[in-house]
Amino acid sequence: HIPVITIDGPSGAGKGTISRLLAEKLGWHLLDSGAIYRVLALAAIHHDFTPEDEESLVALAAHLDVKFEADEEKSLTHIILEGEDVTLTIRTEEVGNMASKIAALPRVREALLRRQRGFKELPGLVADGRDMGTVVFTDADAKVFLTASAEERAQRRFDQLKEKGFDANIDQLVNEIKERDDRDMNRSVAPLKPAEGSLYLDSTDTPIKDVLEQVLTFAHS
Ligand code: C5P
Repeated sequence: HIPVITIDGPSGAGKGTISRLLAEKLGWHLLDSGAIYRVLALAAIHHDFTPEDEESLVALAAHLDVKFEADEEKSLTHIILEGEDVTLTIRTEEVGNMASKIAALPRVREALLRRQRGFKELPGLVADGRDMGTVVFTDADAKVFLTASAEERAQRRFDQLKEKGFDANIDQLVNEIKERDDRDMNRSVAPLKPAEGSLYLDSTDTPIKDVLEQVLTFAHS
């Protein structure tokens, strides 16, 4: 048996941080599924595809040449698309928005399923995304739904972008986050929602280390 913990929720809820800390603490693998959708979105932008080009996007998803390379020194994962390091370029709002548009296409999601399930390896996996518990790893050992208010999430995104040297406008970020959540929650396939039996956590006023404690306690119960 290969244990899996899923962490789903909207963007900026702290899933990325929690998943990374959890994977480090347990010594397990980490799947950042959003990064896969973002890499696909970036590749689509490079090819001048629009979200309407479903056929081309499905083919692109099936043949996507993406590698995740751990940089142990900086506890960072480099994301390589066709040999190019895109770790930073996939983090822009433009790419995030494109990712959320193409993620609404059922056949694109289907084409990425096997790739995501391939991350499930011993000694275990922490899977971060929107549908990890509801679709990709339905038999996970522990499922968590992590959220926070849109304003708090926009503020965190703002701080992150600033830190990485990107320019950002807080009001615009709140709007973009709400728009993206709306699309992710209302799409016909794999809509963002808590999986059955999941632990529901709101991180708006809870420090990361307390969230991590709660997830660990839940996973061990
Ligand atoms: O988590 P992140 O913001 O990097 O994800 C980018 C977009 O990819 C999300 O807005 C969502 O539409 C899509 N996504 C998804 N399913 C996942 C992970 C991400 O649909 N498991």
